[in-house]
Amino acid sequence: MGNPFIIAIDQGTTGSRVFCFDDQGKVLSSAYREFTQHFPKPGWVEHDANEIWNGVRDLIGDALNKGGLNAKDAAGIGITNQRETSVIWDRATGEPIHNAIVWQCRRTASVCDQLKAAGNEDLIRRKTGLVIDAYFSGTKFAWILDQVSGARSRAEKGELAAGTIDSWLLYKLTGQHATDYTNASRTMLYNIETKEWDDELCKLLNVPKAILPEVKASRARYGVTRGGGALPEGVPVLAMIGDQQAALFGQLRVNPGQAKNTYGTGCFLLFNTGDQFLISKNGLLTTLACDAQGQVCYSLEGAVFIGGAVIQWLRDFMKFFGEAPESEQIIADIQDDQDEVVFVPAFAGLGAPYWDQQARGAIFGLTRDTDPARITRAALQSIALQSCDLVRAMEQDTGEKMDLLRVDGGASANNFLLQYQADILGTAVVRPGNVDTTALGSAYLAGMEAGIWPELSDLQELQSDRTRFEPKMDSGRRDHELKYWKKAVERVRGWVD
Ligand code: ADP
Repeated sequence: MGNPFIIAIDQGTTGSRVFCFDDQGKVLSSAYREFTQHFPKPGWVEHDANEIWNGVRDLIGDALNKGGLNAKDAAGIGITNQRETSVIWDRATGEPIHNAIVWQCRRTASVCDQLKAAGNEDLIRRKTGLVIDAYFSGTKFAWILDQVSGARSRAEKGELAAGTIDSWLLYKLTGQHATDYTNASRTMLYNIETKEWDDELCKLLNVPKAILPEVKASRARYGVTRGGGALPEGVPVLAMIGDQQAALFGQLRVNPGQAKNTYGTGCFLLFNTGDQFLISKNGLLTTLACDAQGQVCYSLEGAVFIGGAVIQWLRDFMKFFGEAPESEQIIADIQDDQDEVVFVPAFAGLGAPYWDQQARGAIFGLTRDTDPARITRAALQSIALQSCDLVRAMEQDTGEKMDLLRVDGGASANNFLLQYQADILGTAVVRPGNVDTTALGSAYLAGMEAGIWPELSDLQELQSDRTRFEPKMDSGRRDHELKYWKKAVERVRGWVD
């Protein structure tokens, strides 16, 4: 017998990655593969659920091989996933009846408009913590049932199973049909107060309860593998959790008042509110997350639509640099830190706390000496300023000041961005050594359930190498920068008629 290790499956929107973590929470090996994005019509996005499953199964084999690991020593499996993406499959054959409908897909937008027009917004907000949007799984399930011939009657008879990608992978691995609280809370069908599938919402969205999975804590005994591929029979699946909540747990933000921000294409900020179910007055979502024991708790969630994507835009469309990390180098030579260039990257409108679909991007304060470096600096600052707006909105909703901000995601590699984030928040910002916190979160939960790290304190000991950014900006300067940011945001609002 070798040392026990955990297999973590991180099933994302464009690719899947499988990690093996040792009992110190260190990566032993990993394997990654992209999969096909299907765009059948403008605004529609699908994935082939079988391609995802086959990829994950192969990647488990690849990761085990690379690490020279024996699958028999695997203490358990943790799954974290792209949230909201929806699959319906035949319980008997295990075959999907349609491609998975991806969270980004807008095909059910008109159904959502009808739900809003019929005055259901308050009801859905009160029960699910969500706003009515095509993003969430409920209307996607209904769409598949309506479009695939015979599906509705088969669903009523209990012949079909529905789920998000965590459920789908669990079914293929173990034959069980279950999901966790965090994924269930993104369906618009799950009552996050009573913690059950809600009859009224199932009726409203036209989704029969018979197709929905059992809901368990993110850390739980979900079933054991059936064998096949590189995995023998009997390896337990011990954790399932949506990607953003996994990152929150991977950063050990398990107590009320603790938050994390993930700087990827967009930014996702989650703020733990413990056992308090708060409805935001600032357009944030309420969603389920994990507490210190891996049991269910509440959090507020806010998203910045264009985060690292603004750097991609400067790279690919403006050709300011060849690689995203160069954004930090080209601004290093700027002498003054007093210029007034402000960049509002509202390319896709503005999210919380503004919620303005008519807003569009703009750059303000240009002068003769404004060069790519200064525009790049303003772009990096815009990522931090938008995140700051979310933090302030959350503080207003909770009445609590955030203690410090833990950060992760691709763009968190940028030291200028994180220093500016600390400066503009007036709060320390902390980056872990391993920014793959999503996979880590699911591995931590599985390891807790396996008894490798029974207590939170065991996990805290694993987190050593962190970089801390302390606020250095004086408050006069901070107020000045925030004033100009607000002014710029006001000017882009309602731009498109
Ligand atoms: P996602 O998971 O959303 O695909 P990642 O976490 O991989 O995103 O982060 C990629 C994003 O971060 C890209 O938008 C890229 O422009 C940005 N990015 C990556 N490295 C840096 C960097 N050093 N500085 C600024 N932005 C960066």
